[in-house]
Amino acid sequence: MSGGPRLPRIARRRSKLHGWGVFALEPINKNKRIIDYAGELVDHKESLERETAYLARGEIWCFTVNSRWVRDANVGGNVARFINHACRPNCYSETAGRTIWIRAARRIEAGEELTYDYYTDGERIIPCRCRPGCTRKL
Ligand SMILES: [Zn+2]
Repeated sequence: MSGGPRLPRIARRRSKLHGWGVFALEPINKNKRIIDYAGELVDHKESLERETAYLARGEIWCFTVNSRWVRDANVGGNVARFINHACRPNCYSETAGRTIWIRAARRIEAGEELTYDYYTDGERIIPCRCRPGCTRKL
């Protein structure tokens, strides 16, 4: 991560959406890389076993990298694991090799909570809390 352009300053704080969230500490321009989604690289078979245990606790940590790999942020994750899901998010994810970047979907102001769409494809048992009245399940 050294040598590249400076990444925006962000911080974990209590979220009004759910538990912890991650917030911009400075304005972030559209499409700027904000943080990489860190976590142990595991294959899909291993990920499925872990996800089942996490889902039982209402937690989502596994992020698909490609057809072979998944990153489990519960092991070796960084602050990106606290970014909440939203159905109308201000960030998106982009995979470059085995790196998952969280990027700004629009200009984000200082103090805004960062969100992206998890696009989960599992059992959909966790009610979405992105806004009052959202009926989606993750
Ligand atoms: Zn929602």
